Amino acid sequence: MNKQIGILALQGAFASHASYITELGHSPQEVRTPRDLGGLDALIMPGGESSTMSQLLESSGLFEPIQAAIVGGLPTFGTCAGMILLAREIVDGRLDQCCFDAIDITVRRNAFGRQIDSFEADIDTVMGDFHGVFIRAPRIESVGEKVEVLGTYGGEPVLVRQANVLAASFHPELTGDARLHEYFINSVVTTKEK
Ligand code: GLN
Repeated sequence: MNKQIGILALQGAFASHASYITELGHSPQEVRTPRDLGGLDALIMPGGESSTMSQLLESSGLFEPIQAAIVGGLPTFGTCAGMILLAREIVDGRLDQCCFDAIDITVRRNAFGRQIDSFEADIDTVMGDFHGVFIRAPRIESVGEKVEVLGTYGGEPVLVRQANVLAASFHPELTGDARLHEYFINSVVTTKEK
């Protein structure tokens, strides 16, 4: 069945997520104001700059309604900066930077990999090998008991899930491989309906 998948479109790489959603037969819906949250089956938070997104979430009035929706079970998928926004705690964030505390992970900004700026690598995931693009990626420094690790690189978690929240430190939307979005819709979004 066709799902309405919201994509936080305040800043960052939201357009590439939208094309995957269309390719998978669902409807992307850009989210810029609280009104755009109505009728969504799920929400995606893209990569970009998490401190800027945090400011825009506050100024647009979206922070509180999104937090309430996630607590209420809205399936939510964050990639890179989106993962930082969903974390319980941010290390090396801007002092005024907020996060949703939606998944029990601590993330350190701009800290993953030996080449901090950008690198590509194969990741082991529950869906098999996945090509990961890391751009000033957050490192997951701690994972709470309720968090499932679904993907690792060099033994470190890079794809994690806790109930309705999925988060990746890389950019699955930049490689032309929609399996992770498919997993999100088939496993996280559909589970919610059962
Ligand atoms: N370093 C960015 C941040 O802190 C995230 C980078 C990305 O999304 N590619 O928000």
